[in-house]
Amino acid sequence: MVWDQLTTGETEKINKALPVVILLCATEQHGPHLPLSTDRNIGEHFLQKLNRILENEVVLLPTIPIGCSEHHMDFSGSLTFKHTTFKILVEEMVDSMCVHGFTNFLFLNSHGGNQGIGQVILETLGNKYPKCQFSLITWWKIASNELKKMNHSGPGGTGHAGEFETSLMLHIAPELVREQHIKPPSNQRFDPLVGDMINSPQFSYFQTIKEVSANGVVGNPSLASKENGEKISQIITSKLVDIIKSQLI
Ligand SMILES: [Zn+2]
Repeated sequence: MVWDQLTTGETEKINKALPVVILLCATEQHGPHLPLSTDRNIGEHFLQKLNRILENEVVLLPTIPIGCSEHHMDFSGSLTFKHTTFKILVEEMVDSMCVHGFTNFLFLNSHGGNQGIGQVILETLGNKYPKCQFSLITWWKIASNELKKMNHSGPGGTGHAGEFETSLMLHIAPELVREQHIKPPSNQRFDPLVGDMINSPQFSYFQTIKEVSANGVVGNPSLASKENGEKISQIITSKLVDIIKSQLI
């Protein structure tokens, strides 16, 4: 159920042990062919599917549309919160839900730049509310084996605004994809130390996007397709449903 579509009286009657899902996303550049809203579009697509499948067994909170995108700020359009701001916003949403008695929280993340602070938020809240449960899921990490099998662009092709995000957007919101601006990468070389969405890097590192890509795309969107977007959507949704069902009390 969608929290802000309920009345106050209806929220009172909800089983307080139900999983509460909070989407962590971003508003940032996604190259010349995808909109700034890409991470929110993808995350909210999964929320809508969860709502259809699980209906009254899951609680979906309103989305904070901006995340931690400092490394995208060389590109026009990107918005960012400082880590401290983002942490406070997410924690105070959870504080509010704890006032109402909820105990089971799942952060669904659709943006790479939220992963580090997401883990800090998880540990902070876990220590603050020892009787509550907190989980963090970054969508492309829950099905890397399945996603590897459907990677057409090879290692490095599935990075930011690359094959997978573009395929998903062609499936979810084709009217927002500027297909005439989809280009193969020009000067990028896959580095296994740096990794991509399905090949984990061998160490943690920091680079701004401008340092690795002139047009803001890290990956290869030219092999994206609507059909693959639908398949990715099905794979990830099914994993999310399994995870959330395992959290039902
Ligand atoms: Zn993205």
